[in-house]
Amino acid sequence: MKFFPKQSKCPYCSTIYRYGDLRKMMYKRTDECYHCKRKFKVSRKSLLIFAAEMILIYTAVNIFMILLIKSLTFIMLFSVNMIITIAALLILPMYYCLVKSDKSK
Ligand SMILES: [Zn+2]
Repeated sequence: MKFFPKQSKCPYCSTIYRYGDLRKMMYKRTDECYHCKRKFKVSRKSLLIFAAEMILIYTAVNIFMILLIKSLTFIMLFSVNMIITIAALLILPMYYCLVKSDKSK
């Protein structure tokens, strides 16, 4: 069982990729490790986990706010949801997995 968000590593040499590197990889299907020069696939499977986690967070936060804040306004609800969305977009690159490409040995 893998836990997300996490730091992605090269499947071959375990070089840890920084957040900035992952952001660039988000738009690619395959990439080459800058350290060992082997090709790997950028897997999007864990985006389902991301979606599930986000639905849980949105639901929990909204229920919590509706129950606890008596003078809740639409603007308040909207801005909290916007903050969650921005945070989600920021951690999104951490959900991309680097897996061994089938073609390489
Ligand atoms: Zn590598």
